[in-house]
Amino acid sequence: MSYFSDIINGTKTLLTGMRVTGGYFFVNFFTKRDVITQQYPNNIETLEMFDRFKGEVIMLHNENNEHRCDACTLCEKACPNGSIEILGDKAKDPETGKNKRFLVKHIYHLQMCTMCGLCIEACPVNAIDWGQDFHHVEYDRSLLTKVLNKPGSKIMSGIKG
Ligand code: SF4
Ligand code: SF4
Repeated sequence: MSYFSDIINGTKTLLTGMRVTGGYFFVNFFTKRDVITQQYPNNIETLEMFDRFKGEVIMLHNENNEHRCDACTLCEKACPNGSIEILGDKAKDPETGKNKRFLVKHIYHLQMCTMCGLCIEACPVNAIDWGQDFHHVEYDRSLLTKVLNKPGSKIMSGIKG
């Protein structure tokens, strides 16, 4: 008796597990609704992630290769696990003649980042944001350490340092 009840219970469990998948398949098959399943990696060239997706922390640059970061280090201090290191320096601002802080390197250790977003919230000038790239597979973990300010970039005028 237990043999047959095991078969019945197993079938019931299987059908319960397949309910969502089966429902999705049949409803979309008969109603021709938009299928939202992504055919990854076949669509790798055209794939767009959703706005709220958190792939990595990036630094925003404009078309003139300028960013808003003045090396204030607030993001570094806000990061709970030391994933950010700010290297800054000071130089005379030709516009004001005063010493001004500037960014040398914004170093981001993606391999340690938990995507908590505290650094982005802490930045007072919105210099960093979420990027949507998620192809972060490397054999060497050190390759996941990135410099977020692009080569040759500088700070936009009007940002205090
Ligand atoms: S998202 Fe969180 S863990 Fe990642 S760098 Fe920012 S503060 Fe650190
Ligand atoms: S990214 Fe923002 S918080 Fe971090 S050092 Fe630059 S200006 Fe400061």
